[in-house]
Order: sequence, then C-alpha cells, then structure tokens
Amino acid sequence: MVESVIQLKCECSNYPWGKVGEDSLAARLCSATPYNGFKLEKEKSYAEMWMGTYPTTPSYVLKTGELLQDVINANKEQLVGKTVLDKFGADLPFLPKILSIQKALPLQIHPDIELSKKLHKENPDQFGDTNHKPEIAVALSFFEAFCGFKPKSDIQQLLELEPLKQFRPKDSQWTDSTMRELCKNMLVAPEKTVADTLKALGDLPKSQFGSHSHIPELVPRLISQYGQADNGSLVTLILMNFLTFQPGEAICIPADGIHAYLKGDIVECMARSDNVLNTGFCPRADRDSVDLFVSALTFKQHDSKKPLLDRVDSEYSTTGKTTAFKPPMGEFNMLVTQLGKGDKDTIKEIPGPSVAFMTSGGGRMTADGKTTDIKAGYIYFIGQGVEVSYESSSSDFAIYRAYAA
Ligand SMILES: [Zn+2]
Repeated sequence: MVESVIQLKCECSNYPWGKVGEDSLAARLCSATPYNGFKLEKEKSYAEMWMGTYPTTPSYVLKTGELLQDVINANKEQLVGKTVLDKFGADLPFLPKILSIQKALPLQIHPDIELSKKLHKENPDQFGDTNHKPEIAVALSFFEAFCGFKPKSDIQQLLELEPLKQFRPKDSQWTDSTMRELCKNMLVAPEKTVADTLKALGDLPKSQFGSHSHIPELVPRLISQYGQADNGSLVTLILMNFLTFQPGEAICIPADGIHAYLKGDIVECMARSDNVLNTGFCPRADRDSVDLFVSALTFKQHDSKKPLLDRVDSEYSTTGKTTAFKPPMGEFNMLVTQLGKGDKDTIKEIPGPSVAFMTSGGGRMTADGKTTDIKAGYIYFIGQGVEVSYESSSSDFAIYRAYAA
C-alpha cells in the first residue's frame, strides 16, 4: 500500500501581474518546501502557485519526484475512494492555488459547461477543457476585486454623467440584452474614446459619483497599470461592483461570472478547468472576441453588497476549531483550520481526496500513523479515509484543505 499522506512539490508561475520577489506570498510559500529546487529571485514576479494534478502545472511527490497524478492513478481505490471515483474519476476535480496580485488580472469570465464543450471542440488548443470553472477566493491579506455587475439602477445613474452618455444603449428596457449591448459598447470603443472618457471621469468632482466615489480614485491607478486606453477600465469601473475584503473573507464566482481581481494575496480554488475568456487588462492581441465574451455573460450577480461566501461549521472537525467554505457547486469544499498556540483539532475521515496547504504558522500533524513537523508552505495530498490531527506551536497556525466527497 502506498502512503496516504504525500508531501508535494508545487510550481509558481511568473505572470507580470504577480507580486515581486519576497513580497509575493505565493513565492514565499513555494520556497518553503524543502529541497524542491525553487529559488526565489528578488526581481522576478511571482503570480500563482498551483497545487494539484492539472496537467499544465502539475504537482509532484516531494520524496520521489513522481507525478502526483501517476501515484493516484496507480492507487485509485485507496487514495480517491469509490464515492469520488464514481462522481469524477481519478483526476482531482478541484484545483487550489495561492495568488499574489500586484496589479489587475485580465478582466475575465470562465465559460459554463455547455460553452466550454463547444469552444473545446472548435479550438482545443486554447480551450483545453470541457468543464466549467466556478471559483472561490479567500483573502489572506486585504484584497480588492471587481466582481459581478452593479445593480442596474446604479449603472443607469452613472450613465447620466456627461462623459458616459455616449455608451448608453439604444434599448431602454434594461433587459439582459441591454446590458450586453452596453458592455459591448464599452469593450469595442476605440482607444481615443476610452482615453478621453477615463480622463474626463478622473477630472469630475467626486461628489458627482454618488456612492461610487471609488471611480475617480481608481482611474489613475488603473491607467498606471494598463495605460490610458484599456477598455477593461471602463467596464470594471462603471459596470462592475468594486469589493474589498478583510483577511478570512471569501467570495464565490459562479460559472460565467465576470471578475477582475485587483490586489492582494488569496487562496483560490476552482473546479478542474483552465478555460478563460479575457477582454481587458491584457495586451490587445491576447483578447478574446468581444462578441463571444459578451454573449457568454451572466447577469445574475447584481448585488452591490459583497457576494460573500459564508464560513460554516464543519462536520469533520472534532473541536469546532476548523470551519468550512461550502460553495454551491459539487466539485469541492474547503476546510480552514486556524489554531492558537497549543491548540489542537482532529479532522475526521473524509470519504474523498484532498489537498492541504499551510499558509502561516507551524506545528505538528499526525496522520496515517505518522507525526510530522509542519510549517507555512508545506503542502500535502491526503487520500480518502484518513483521520488528521493538528497541534499548533504558533499563534498563527492556518491550514487550508480542499476536498471532494
Ligand atoms: Zn478567474
């Protein structure tokens, strides 16, 4: 029998939106795994660390260098277990990541299952998956993001501002197709129009923006990141909710939900897919078709309050010190164990595979008949049916664990 608790070696990517050098939590955590060959360079951007078996950036068994997926495939019943094998097969159905964001990520949506199948058939090189990719983000630091659309009445009010009147849709019914038209008007606007509009918005007195006084404040920030003429700036500022999160707060982005993360360190977890449509905050050449983007949008999320994902009690925690995020999709839930110095918790057997990663602090973990010292940056695959106990030796012990069951 193979060991059911396997320490992993993961990789960190270097997209230009990532934080630089030691500032990047993703890089610091990645460099904490012993002997993984990762060397943190001062000047480099470190954007995201992926933990799991997604084939483009897979995780490896630290001890042997084997691909985690190969080990899982050879020991499916033991590690994944029948329940999850029947539902999802032997590929882990979820993909956790640590993101360290210095400037806005591309304005994006992740197509739903139906569109993913279609896009994959037409263009398998760009759309490698037939799956949807709803995702959750949990703030590890102060976190800023654009998510979902503002309430229609707020958007209508903003369109009364002189510089924005030109984008008003012809249709005055304000159905979903009106929103699509409006979004398209902003995404296809020529560079000069975008630049002139952003400048005019930045020059208007704050008082004219009502409850959206963040708009003129963010104009110079977005211009400094993506230039004077990025269409993404218009869509995010005028049409989308701007949300801020304290550490520990989480958000859920449904399939087809529009989002652009702006700044902060987060834990992200998503259904197994890497499909994305981008239209802003990226070079023009990298943008997907505006028509495709606009046609795929969902307009369900109109809440100007935070579309927060609540933290709930976990049925697996024996002391109640471990809580859970349970997003409304079947692929995964996420446990969060936060302990003070000397605190303990035991997590009962979960009938499916999981990936656990420590984001701060240190202590000991007992599982599968072994006790190991653990610290921030250590990452483990934990097979189904294994009881796991933690004992903290620091005041800031935090371990996240994505699981399917
Ligand atoms: Zn995304």
